[in-house]
Amino acid sequence: MATTAMPQTATRGGSFLIETSRPEEIFSPAQLSDDQKLIGQTAEEFVTNEVLPVAERLEHKEEGLMASLLKKAGELGLTGGVVPEEYGGAGLDKISTTVLAEKLSHYASFSVSHGGHAGIGTVPLVYYGTEEQKKKYLPKIASAELISCYCLSEPQVGSDAQNSLTRAVLTADGKHWVLNGQKMWITNGGFADVFIVFAKVDGEKFSCFIVEKGYAGFKIGGEEKKMGIKGSSTVPIFFDNCPVPKENLLFEIGGGFKIAMNTLNVGRFSLGAYCSGGAKVVLSVASKYSKERLAFGKPIADFGMVNEKLGEMAIRILAVESMIYRTAGTIENAMTAAATGSDKTQAYMKVLEEYAIESSISKVYGSEVLDYVVDEAVQVYGGYGFHEEYPVARAYRDSRINRIFEGTNEINRLVIFDMLMKRAMKGTLPLIPAAMKLQGELMAPPSFDEPSTDAFAEEERVVENAKKSFLLASGSAVQRYQQKLADHQEIIGALSSIVMEVYAMESVLRRAQKAVALRGAESSSVLVDAARVFIYDAADRVEKAARTAVAASAEGDMQRIALGAVKRFAKREAVDTIALRRRVAAAVLAADKYPFEGR
Ligand SMILES: Cc1cc2nc3c(=O)[nH]c(=O)nc-3n(C[C@H](O)[C@H](O)[C@H](O)COP(=O)(O)OP(=O)(O)OC[C@H]3O[C@@H](n4cnc5c(N)ncnc54)[C@H](O)[C@@H]3O)c2cc1C
Repeated sequence: MATTAMPQTATRGGSFLIETSRPEEIFSPAQLSDDQKLIGQTAEEFVTNEVLPVAERLEHKEEGLMASLLKKAGELGLTGGVVPEEYGGAGLDKISTTVLAEKLSHYASFSVSHGGHAGIGTVPLVYYGTEEQKKKYLPKIASAELISCYCLSEPQVGSDAQNSLTRAVLTADGKHWVLNGQKMWITNGGFADVFIVFAKVDGEKFSCFIVEKGYAGFKIGGEEKKMGIKGSSTVPIFFDNCPVPKENLLFEIGGGFKIAMNTLNVGRFSLGAYCSGGAKVVLSVASKYSKERLAFGKPIADFGMVNEKLGEMAIRILAVESMIYRTAGTIENAMTAAATGSDKTQAYMKVLEEYAIESSISKVYGSEVLDYVVDEAVQVYGGYGFHEEYPVARAYRDSRINRIFEGTNEINRLVIFDMLMKRAMKGTLPLIPAAMKLQGELMAPPSFDEPSTDAFAEEERVVENAKKSFLLASGSAVQRYQQKLADHQEIIGALSSIVMEVYAMESVLRRAQKAVALRGAESSSVLVDAARVFIYDAADRVEKAARTAVAASAEGDMQRIALGAVKRFAKREAVDTIALRRRVAAAVLAADKYPFEGR
């Protein structure tokens, strides 16, 4: 197979750890085009007018209802975003599909069903299908005339999906693959028509097949009883000598892992966008309630500790939103550059792989912020938050799945660090020279350069120092444990958390700088406040994680020196985060919603 390089002009995945980006290089929601906004508006109206009115019926699994909604969404072009126009799709750019995911997320069961079909159920065909396969399936999948799903997990294997027990054997006449085994937890499985199924050819070579409902020996099990996203379909499926036409092998024998992982890279990125959109809705609901509910003779919004929750929700959403639009812009640039090459499919696959780190960050950070937001929203609602007839109880239950599917957050934390290390070893990401340079800097006498007077100089310094903390702590861990570091997952978890905080801090900082450049300091002042609070608090989290990693990997004098350096990198000017957070909360309460949309 030909190897294709990443386009030279594209920002390398993970390079944010060692390079300093400029605000103008980073996409921000303030740059959304009218077309992109219109897509968002269409999606939002669809959910408001078509989905929310029937949410209760969906929760009770009314037969055929979710499928009919997906088809209606298809008529409006909301299900064919990733499908190129030549195959009947909308061929949307990455930023538009991000807007779409955010705006479809008001009702989680619908967004999960949408993602199962239009995301992970479609991507394998778009990037790995033959011309015949694409022509046959994509136009009908784009319009949701056919509904698809992604079948990787099994009862015995989830995180270690490559250990699949499902088998595929070619018949003696070479015309069919015969599948035997079971898949589990299949979103949309109860009503899907096309099943993207992973199975091992001859029990060895992990591969991928297109299976249609109705094939002999193919059976769909009953709906699982779930904690949340009850309106979505989740079923097991069974293959008992199920013959699949030979031409329904997707990509190549043994190519299944590549398909599975690159598809998940797309899914993980989108999951962050769904979480960001969902969190905004919950913040809005909590804000309204906090003004209506009286305690001790005044609205609970007036109490500092309630007010603080609203401000903090908006601040954390800002971090997720800034990261996902930054990543969407980066991926879109790389995809555009890749489209000019001769082997586009290979080039697109390279792009998906390249941003695996940023996609995992989107998934993990997005799902953890959404969990934080729904939890605090329940608290704002008090006892009514615990009541199923009020909106936040369902949001709380629905949110929980996001840390589990599309690779658990533990698996994604491992992916983030593993990818970084592989690239460092290959030399495609110069982490090792950066760590060595840092060693030199630590030995050198302190610098007496005049401090910068730039408005964001302090934040720039804090972000750069967070990057140094990562290099120091990861260097210490790699030096101590080398190949055995995989046995010390707690350290890897802490290091991955630093990576995520660094990406979030820098993305929020660039967003604030961009907002000031575009709209002026005065009208961006609350966004800047939010950015300052986020960066200040994130620096605390970085310091703690770095200390944890260093304490577990260095000893004696080495440990003392390294911990001293972590302390030095964490040094920063005091920020009155309470006052700034209050200003953010005031903006939330004034608009009764997330105040930085499109800013
Ligand atoms: C509602 C729902 C919808 C789903 N939809 C789909 C779908 O459409 N298609 C599909 O294929 N799958 C789907 N899944 C399956 C989902 O992707 C898996 O549940 C998930 O990947 C975890 O696998 P598991 O449940 O087997 O957990 P396990 O792999 O058994 O993990 C259990 C725990 O162990 C941890 N763990 C496992 N391995 C490691 C490790 N190496 N290091 C550290 N910790 C580890 C995990 O993080 C987790 O905390 C869905 C699941 C649910 C609940």
